[in-house]
Amino acid sequence: MEDLGTPVLDNHLHLDPEHGRGLDAVRDFRRLGGTHLLVVNKPSWHLGVEPEAGDDFRPVFETTTEVVAAASDLLPGRAWPVLGVHPGLISRLVDERGFDPDEAADLMCAGLDRAAEYVRDGDALALKSGRPHYDVSEAVWAASNDVMRHAFSLANELDCAVQLHTEATEDLTEVAEWAEERDVPAHRVVKHYAGGRLAGPTPSVMSEKERLEIAAAAGDPFLMETDFVDDPDRPGAVLGPKTVPRRVRWLLEEGYDDAVANAHVETPARVYGIDTEATLEA
Ligand SMILES: [Zn+2]
Repeated sequence: MEDLGTPVLDNHLHLDPEHGRGLDAVRDFRRLGGTHLLVVNKPSWHLGVEPEAGDDFRPVFETTTEVVAAASDLLPGRAWPVLGVHPGLISRLVDERGFDPDEAADLMCAGLDRAAEYVRDGDALALKSGRPHYDVSEAVWAASNDVMRHAFSLANELDCAVQLHTEATEDLTEVAEWAEERDVPAHRVVKHYAGGRLAGPTPSVMSEKERLEIAAAAGDPFLMETDFVDDPDRPGAVLGPKTVPRRVRWLLEEGYDDAVANAHVETPARVYGIDTEATLEA
């Protein structure tokens, strides 16, 4: 097993023990020097769940908390669940199941309320929300923003961070303001699948060299992720589970030691309140 001499956190990936590689992906991550994971629940429909009420999201969350417990046993550090409702669900509800946008938003908020219970009980670290990354009607856009603002209200109650799935952009200052209006500091909002620079929330940078070089050179707080989807039908859709440790090795070789400490120790502490050094086995 590789030891890179630093905690190595993948801030956003999925594990599907039933259909995908599951714990074998964790073993690959660990072998290359990975130590910590934030595991985000898969979109509900990928697990065959078509919710009618908030409680129907529970099996989706249970799948994630169970695989996270097993992953923690394999890692020299640990894994944490990040739970929520994928913003793409609104299109499935409106376009395929006949919901109007407000009804769809209500159901998605109810799902977030269930996710919040896990955070409240200490069984999840943070919430996941956002809005579609593709063009939608004005009504669907407005309803999606309402769902995201509900997630910020929950984050305020729970004193936790929120990961967002959004359109590709380098400016989410308006969204960060919605969080701050609810007393959630902008840095506790994380844009997943980010480029190397972002105004507003904390970027969780996709671990491609070009994006990482921009983030490392800027020196602002950032995280690193793969968005590994663990879906056998989409093998090349995203980066694999070995990518973050490989890119950490490369950053260290390039002399970006400060960026590695930033993305794997300082920013995780600042955003989530986690200590990736203390949770590492001696
Ligand atoms: Zn994802």
